[in-house]
Formats: sequence, C-alpha cells, structure tokens
Amino acid sequence: MAQGGDGQPTDSARRVGELDRHLLLRCRTGQVRQTAEAANRAGGGLVVTVERGDLTGCLDQVRHLRQAGHYRHPVLLDAARYAGDDRRSAAASFDERWIEGQRELGLPVLTDSGYLAPHDTAGCLGILERAARLGEDAIALLPMHPYWLADPHARGNLVRYVEVVGVPVAVVLERTVAPVDPVETLRGLLRLLGCAVPVIVLSADLSALGALSSGAAAAAVGTGAVWGDPDPGRPERPRPWGAGQPSVLIRQCLSYQPLPRVEAAMRRHPDNGMWHCTCSTCAGRSLAWLIGQPDPARAHLALRHSAEILLDLRTELVGPSVHLSQRSWQARCATAASRLREVGWARQPMLTHWQEAITPPAIPRLTIPAPRRPLSRRRPSSAVPPQAAR
Ligand SMILES: [Zn+2]
Repeated sequence: MAQGGDGQPTDSARRVGELDRHLLLRCRTGQVRQTAEAANRAGGGLVVTVERGDLTGCLDQVRHLRQAGHYRHPVLLDAARYAGDDRRSAAASFDERWIEGQRELGLPVLTDSGYLAPHDTAGCLGILERAARLGEDAIALLPMHPYWLADPHARGNLVRYVEVVGVPVAVVLERTVAPVDPVETLRGLLRLLGCAVPVIVLSADLSALGALSSGAAAAAVGTGAVWGDPDPGRPERPRPWGAGQPSVLIRQCLSYQPLPRVEAAMRRHPDNGMWHCTCSTCAGRSLAWLIGQPDPARAHLALRHSAEILLDLRTELVGPSVHLSQRSWQARCATAASRLREVGWARQPMLTHWQEAITPPAIPRLTIPAPRRPLSRRRPSSAVPPQAAR
C-alpha cells in the first residue's frame, strides 16, 4: 500500500499512467476541438463524454484529435451509459468494442459502467471485478449515488472493496440532494482518496480542485455553463456549442458567473481588483473586453480564459504535501466565499462544504500528570473513579 505516514497517498499511489494529478476538462464529442485547444498545456487533459450514445463517433473524433491534431495530453473517454433516460444499471456488462476502441487509441481503458444505486453491493463488486479482469490499463468507472460516500457504513464497505480488488477507480457522483448530507459526502470522498488505490474524480464542478488537493490521481472539471455536464441522476440534455450566454470563471470567487452578471458587478464595484485578468487570453485586460466580443467567438474566448485560470489554480494547488495542498484549498474556499459576499453574488455551497469537510488534524493534547497527593490526605470514600470523571 503506497501511503505516507499520515495515511495520505504518496506520489506513486496517485499516478495512473500519465494521469499524474492532471486536471481534465470535460467536454462532449462535438466540443473536442475547442476544448482541446483550451487544455493544450502541461497539467491539462480531456474527458470526452459520448453524445447520444454514439460510441463510434466519440472514438473517431478522438482518433482524429490524436492523429491529425497531435494532441498529446491525457485523454479519458466516458461512455456515460449511467446517464440519460435509458441509463444502464451497474449489473450491465461492458461493451467490448468500447474497451478495445480505447485500447487501440493508446488511452487508459475507462469502463462503460452503468449506474451504481444505493445498497447495490453486487453491482459495485461486479464493476470492480470485471474491470480488474480487463488488465493493467483498466480504470473502473463508478457512477454512483452519493449514499455510497455519505453513509459511514457504506463508505467503509466501498473503500474495502476498492482496496481488495485493487483496480484504479474513477468516481462520478450523482448530484447530492437531501437527505444526503453534502459535507458527509465530501468526507467520504476524502476517505476514498486516502485509500491505497489511485482514485480519479470525474464529477464536473470546481470540487475537482479540492479533489486534486486531497490526493486524487486526476480530476475533471466542467468549463462553464455553456453546456450541461453529465449527471447520473438527470436526463442527458446537451446544448449546442456557444448557445446562450457563456459563463466565465472568476478566479477570486472560485465560481462561474454569466457575463451579463459580471458586467453588472463591474459597474457596481469597479475597484475591487477582481476584473483584470492576467491569463494569456485576456493579457491583463479587464473582463469587459470579453463581453464586447461577437458570438460565438465570445464563448470560445470565455472557455480559454476559464481553462487557463483552472490550470493555473491546479499548478498552484498541487504540491508534494497533500496536507499543505488541502490547507491551501481550504483557505482559498474561505477567501472566495468572502469575495462572493462583497459583490452580492449567491453563496456557493461547495465552498462551505469543503471548509467543513477538511477538518484540521487532531493536535495531540499534552497530558500533564496530576500532582501526587500525600496518602494521608486521600479520602477513599469520596474518590471518583477515573471513568466517571470523563
Ligand atoms: Zn483571462
């Protein structure tokens, strides 16, 4: 088991092939070209999600990207059979053409798993064992209900199954809704990330940065509200490229905001230091320049801006010590919550959940022995047993 003395995974535990704590931008088949341009730098990569069940179209698009586009950063392919109106269950067998298609492209083999419902122990073990039989390049995709992480008993079982089978896993979490506690879900995720097996987090919000800070082998993040990300619990509703108002990542707030909202906030708070961006796309300009761009170029530039900020944050957060990376992420979440309040934008629950889930390590308390009393002063009849005094 590759763990450090503090129970956190070591570098060797976090690696799956070339996925060395990379931040992967999520896109659908039809968005590969634009997203690959934005994720074309060290530490970046792609997760391409199959659109409308067209596995062959996805494989062809990525083949073209690798061969003609010469894209050499890590790529994972997500068949997304766990999402949509006709999603499969965890018991569904893998599609051999999908497995071989990824292998032929020289990619890690991400299984096309169905949805893992609460209490479906047989489904969980089935995915893990079938993935392990595929060989060393396989990653077991676990698209699961958050119960598996939020419930202490279920999370204990999950970690045990994953460690016993030993195949790297990639987690896609269904959106957490009541009564599942989102903070407990994150605590469960942290427990899974601390296990002996490499864990990739493929859910698509900014929690990807928290996951990387906490030892994930890789993590995927969406690139704004231009398109929907797949969710096991919701029907697949992809939107066309550039449709609607793009959102941009506001670095200090760790949140995406639609451009009209950014424009209004800039008018109300022109001097709060959040609007000038030093990414190579904005080149020191105020974000107002993006607002003035014509459609669909604006969506493309917004994507490039957001991807650059995400990859910069990834570089700043991922370091040799998981403990220090987590503290840095926790501090950034606190600062972001404060900056959101400053400009009157909605609270992002994710920021609070991460702060609560990363509990500081227990500081061993000094035990100062009580002074010995002279025997003559003891009163046996009134002595309090140590247990009762606690
Ligand atoms: Zn920028």
